[in-house]
Formats: sequence, structure tokens, C-alpha cells
Amino acid sequence: MSIVVLKLPKVKRKTEERPKKCPYCSGTTFQRWGQVNKPVKDVRVRNVRVYRYRCCHCWRTFRHYPQGNTSADQTDRLRLFATLLWTLGLSHRASSLILSGLKVRVSFMTIWRDVQVEWGERKKRNSWKSVRVLGLDGAYVLGWGEKQPVLVAVDLGTGEPITVGYVNEYDPHAVVRWLRPLVQQHGISVIVTDDLTSYKVVTEKLQLGHQICQFHVRRWVGRALKDLQETIPKEWLWVVEEVRELLDVLHPEGSQRLHALWKQLPGRSSRPDQARSAMEQLRDLLLRLSRDWHSYCTFQSEPEVPWTNNATESAIGRMKMRARTVRGYKSWQGMQSGLMLAGTYTR
Ligand SMILES: [Zn+2]
Repeated sequence: MSIVVLKLPKVKRKTEERPKKCPYCSGTTFQRWGQVNKPVKDVRVRNVRVYRYRCCHCWRTFRHYPQGNTSADQTDRLRLFATLLWTLGLSHRASSLILSGLKVRVSFMTIWRDVQVEWGERKKRNSWKSVRVLGLDGAYVLGWGEKQPVLVAVDLGTGEPITVGYVNEYDPHAVVRWLRPLVQQHGISVIVTDDLTSYKVVTEKLQLGHQICQFHVRRWVGRALKDLQETIPKEWLWVVEEVRELLDVLHPEGSQRLHALWKQLPGRSSRPDQARSAMEQLRDLLLRLSRDWHSYCTFQSEPEVPWTNNATESAIGRMKMRARTVRGYKSWQGMQSGLMLAGTYTR
């Protein structure tokens, strides 16, 4: 049996500690200006004592809350607990029901807002984070009546999603517009993706290093080679074998070797309106691999770069699992915060 330990924020009933700084000015000396008992929503605490202070500099008064409390009805602990219930797969209504079992009455609308607030805070924490290697991958998620395209960005240093965009990965210009500010904000220098053409445009436009996920490459090239093995003339089978070996070891000189092989093969003989012959398909494959080879091998010279995009795919897996039980998000705002919280597995 595995045990999950939830680390929730501490909530104090009162604090004797005085405020350090006035919320209105830079004043640092205060007079106590009365106290109130504030009822709060929490799993353990029902009331907290809040002191009022008056600033000796600007003479304004303010409430000074004990740890884990704000001006909101719920404590920080309850808000996070409600968010976690939702993230673990319960609906807003079911989360509300569980809390009522703990004698806390919180409406499902409040829990929806809690989820938004929690994502807002993570977004703030994420915004200054430095991310050198970013994994990108597209997915389709059910929202407002149909499948919506989203693009997920994962910090491959930690495996945590950084953000999710309402962007179609097949549209390179949309990806560039969305990615450019992220690159500047986080100092991204390499992206890891599958080998869609749009990502080649993106890396060129934004001058990023690129690693193409080798898991994808091996799968589609493996299939193509298997088909060609059946269809090309026997005297050329050695080429197929050599491509397989090159891909197996990802030889640093692979690009030149593939180009040399490409030149050895007979040129195009079919008319443009005819289907390409097997030999022509092999030739096209050699050229494409030769051109993209450097993006297969980035990980060899940069140890922080993984050779597959698996971390991004597993974040998407977590997001999709949660999206299935949601049965369709109603707005982009709800979808983004929902996907982000579901995709994050640690704090
Ligand atoms: Zn003041």
C-alpha cells in the first residue's frame, strides 16, 4: 500500500508577533488598535483572533492575520485541501460534499474559485523561474462542446508544466507568437519536441536549440524502413541496414553519411503526378534524416537535454486523466487552471 502525505499550510489561531511593515506605507511602528474574533472555514480551527494595528507613520489602521489566514473566509489550508480534492479527480460538488463530512460548509462554486486562485499563485511562482530546456507537445482536450487544441510546456529540469496555451501545434506562426515571450521570460535555450515541421520553423525563428524526441523518430523511421525492405530492389537492401545502424548509435557524422548515401541512389524518374517509387521514397527519407540529424543529437553535447520528450508526455497523461472525469471544461480559464493543477504532481 502506498501512503500519500499531504503537506498543507499551517494555520495559527492567533499571533503575538507584531506586523513588520505597514501595508500602506513603509512605517515600522504600530499601536494595537483593538481585536476581533474572526470565524473561519477550516478542518480544525473555527475561530482565529485578529488584532488591528494603527501605523504611527500614516495613521491608517489594518488587520494583522495569524499565519495561514487572510481576509478570506477560508484558511489557506482549507483552500489548498479543496483544490487537492478536485485535483485528485473529484468534481467540485463531490469535493464540497467531502468537506461537509468534515463539518465545513464550502459551496462547489467556492471550490471552483479556489482552483483558479491556486493556479494564479503557481503562475506567479512560475513566472520568474529559469527554464533552460523546455518540452513542448500538443494535445486535444474536450471543452465547450468540442475537442480544443492545447500546447503544453514542461520544464524538463523538474518535469513540471510551466504553462498551457490555447494554441494548435500545427500552426508554426501561432506557436512562435505564443512561445516568444516565454523564451524571454524564462531564458529557454533548447526545446524538445516530436518531429512536426512546425517545430523546425519555430526553432529557426526563435533561434533555439532543438532536440527531436528519439522515441518518435525511431517509431516512424522503423516503420518506413520495414516497408521499404519489402519493396526496394534487393541490391539496395544494404542501405536500409546502414540507416538502421546509424540511427541505433546516432553517430555524430550521421548527417554526412546519409547525404553521401542519398547521392549514390538513382535520381527521380517518375513524373511529378505519379506516385513515388520505393527507391524514390528511400531517397527522400535519406535526405530528410540527413537534414534533421543535428536535432537528433543535441543531447550528446548538452547533458541537460534529454533524448526523448517523455516527461512532457507524462504531464499530458496526468492532465488527460483529470480531463476525462471533468467531462469537458466550460471555459479556457477553467481548462487552463484545471490542466495545470492536474499536470503538476509535486509542489
Ligand atoms: Zn503606514
